[in-house]
Amino acid sequence: MNLLNQFKDAKLCKQVLAELTAELKAPFRFMEVCGTHTVAIFQSGLRSLFPENLIHVSGPGCPVCVTHEKEVALFFELAKKDVILATFGDLMRVPGPDKKSLKDLQAEGAKIKVVYSPFDALTLARENPLAKVVFIGVGFETTAPTIAATLKIAKKEKVKNFFVLCLHKLVPPALRALVVDPQLKVEGFLLPGHVSAIIGVKPYLFLAKEYSIPAVIGGFEPLDILQALYLLVKMKNEGKAEIINSYKRVVKTEGNVKAQEVLAEVFQPCAALWRGIGEIPESGLQLREKYADFDAFQVFDLQFPEVPPLKGCKCGEVLKGLIRPDECPLFKKVCTPQHPVGPCMVSTEGSCAAYYKYSL
Ligand code: SF4
Repeated sequence: MNLLNQFKDAKLCKQVLAELTAELKAPFRFMEVCGTHTVAIFQSGLRSLFPENLIHVSGPGCPVCVTHEKEVALFFELAKKDVILATFGDLMRVPGPDKKSLKDLQAEGAKIKVVYSPFDALTLARENPLAKVVFIGVGFETTAPTIAATLKIAKKEKVKNFFVLCLHKLVPPALRALVVDPQLKVEGFLLPGHVSAIIGVKPYLFLAKEYSIPAVIGGFEPLDILQALYLLVKMKNEGKAEIINSYKRVVKTEGNVKAQEVLAEVFQPCAALWRGIGEIPESGLQLREKYADFDAFQVFDLQFPEVPPLKGCKCGEVLKGLIRPDECPLFKKVCTPQHPVGPCMVSTEGSCAAYYKYSL
């Protein structure tokens, strides 16, 4: 049996699930903060097997979903300028002002290209030297290093027509915003494996030290998830609050030091807007002064437009784990993956899309 198959082994999963169920003597409310975990929990069928006492909610772990409505409106402002917008495909269908999406704007003639990496956007700039190419940078600590590396190349090559609209977000400050919110009452976190592979364990220690909240860094196979939840329940029962790395085959304690160095060279922390949560200090990344020539905010003198939240959409509450997607009045009735009202129904990692696809 290869290594990954071991983490899908039904017999082992049943065993850990039985141990988890036996250990769970009181209800606990845990949150996963990674869209990949959200989907993995559904795809593997684990959601339907969780014991009743295990209240497991999804948090702000989908980068497209947490992109604030003002940030989405900014894409539209930018698309009206004489630029080529380069973006990952997930953003194309996110509803913006007037319920229009970038896909609609593209159909109306705006120059918008879907790319698979920031390097592709840089290539687009090289191939169109007379055009201004703006890459929309959204995502967490996982995607930011490739954008930092692309900017380093662009600077070295002295590319003059490549820009980044940097809207990257950082997970640990968002966790702090969640734990201080008295409405939420999260008793433990299943921490994101991918983000942790970059940042390591240290940035999460405040959860245990300052708020006595246990957390486990988990992988994405069924056994990884069950093991992480078992460890959370065990810590709760023993009155312990620690940060455990149970995804050691991928996540090093210190994280990816090279990626951290590239990030620190190109970006610096700044306040960022999160859909449903609002502005969180030090939770975003902005380009350092030496990269100002590539900063779309500075070059195009951009300001966030004032826009109302999407009418009727409860994405904000879903992203904070306050409601399940099926508790939104629009779920499945008005809002579907074919006609999404909010971003959580658009993104492949969105909770609403996962509920729609996998729940009965
Ligand atoms: S079901 Fe649709 S409208 Fe409701 S919260 Fe999810 S994305 Fe928004």
